[in-house]
Amino acid sequence: MIIVLRAHATETDIQSVSDLVCSLRYQPRIIRGVEQTVLACIGDELSNRSLEVLKTLPAVESVFPVQRKFKLVSREYHAEDSCVKIKDTQIGCGSIPVIAGPCAIESYDQFRTAVSDLEKIKIQIIRAMPFKPRTSPYDFQGLKLDGVKIMRDVKKEFDVAFVSEVPGPAQIEILNDITDMYQVGARNAQNYDLLEQIAKAGKPVLLKRGMAMTIEEWLTAAEYLVVNGCQDVILCERGLRSFDQTTRNLLDIGAVAVAKQLTHLPVVVDPSHAAGVRSLVTPLARAAIAAGADGLLVEAHPDPVNAFSDAAQQLKSSTFKDFLDDIQPWIDLALKTRV
Ligand code: PEP
Ligand code: MN
Repeated sequence: MIIVLRAHATETDIQSVSDLVCSLRYQPRIIRGVEQTVLACIGDELSNRSLEVLKTLPAVESVFPVQRKFKLVSREYHAEDSCVKIKDTQIGCGSIPVIAGPCAIESYDQFRTAVSDLEKIKIQIIRAMPFKPRTSPYDFQGLKLDGVKIMRDVKKEFDVAFVSEVPGPAQIEILNDITDMYQVGARNAQNYDLLEQIAKAGKPVLLKRGMAMTIEEWLTAAEYLVVNGCQDVILCERGLRSFDQTTRNLLDIGAVAVAKQLTHLPVVVDPSHAAGVRSLVTPLARAAIAAGADGLLVEAHPDPVNAFSDAAQQLKSSTFKDFLDDIQPWIDLALKTRV
C-alpha cells in the first residue's frame, strides 16, 4: 500500500504514521519529497489488517493499493488472450461467435422452434433459460423445472450447446448435466457465495457486468470465479443503469476496450439488454465488435411480439440471418485488423 502524507507533514507526523504502519505488521519505506512524504508499505495484505484505516488520520492525504484487487484474471499474470471452448465453439481466440436464443424458455414449441431456426444458420450456442430472475415477483419467472425438461427434450434433437442463467446456488446442480455454460446475471454479479459455488461446478461461466458495477468490481468478481477453481470465465458487458431512459441500459463500449486491456479473459457483449428495443440491436452489436468484443449474446424468439419477457428487444429467430449478415462486415474487418 502507498500512504501519501499531507503537504509539509512534520517529523512527528511521519514518525507516528510509520509507527502505526509497523504496529499493523507492515514495513514502511519513507520517501521524502520537497513538499510531500510518501510511505511505501510492504506486508501481507491477505492476513494483515488493511492500511486503509489510516485514511482517517489528519496527517494522511490518501492511501491506495499498489496491486490490483484482481490478479489471476489480469494481463500482468497472463499476457495472452484466454480461449474458452464451449462444445465446438472457441471464444476469445480469433473468431467472433454469436450466442443467441430467447430471453426465456416459454414452451416446448417456442424453444424448439427458436433452436431449430438458429441451428439452421449455424448458431452453436443457444440461450436456454428455464430460470428468469426478474426485478418484479409478478413478472414471468421462467418455467423452472418444466423448462429444464424442455431443454433435455430439445437437446436430444439438436447438436447445440446451451448457456443457462443460474439465479442461486440451488439451481447449479439442477442444470449441471444439461447446460454447457452457466450464466451469472447482472443482478447476481456480486453474489459472492453464488460465484464461489458456481466456480466449483466445473463448467465455463459467463459473468454479466452488474448494472452499477465498476470495471474493477466486475474483474474482481471474475477473480472470485478463477480463484475458486473455474478455468473458463467469459465476461459480458450488458449496459449500465443511466440517467437517460432512451436506451434500456447504457452500453459501456469503453468498458469493452478497457477490459480487453486489463484482462486476458474473453469479453462478449449483450446488445439486446442494453438496447431494450430491436432497432438498436444491430448498431450496438457493430459498435461492440469495433471496440474489441470477442463475441455477442443476442436474444432471438420465434414470435418476439408475443414473448413473455423482453418482447421489445428480441429479434425474430426465423430472420436472424439478416442480423448476422448485417454485422458480418464488422466481424470481417475486426478479424482482419486485430493483432
Ligand atoms: C439475461 O441475459 O437473460 C438477463 C436477464 O440479462 P441481465 O442479467 O444482463 O439483465
Ligand atoms: Mn431478457
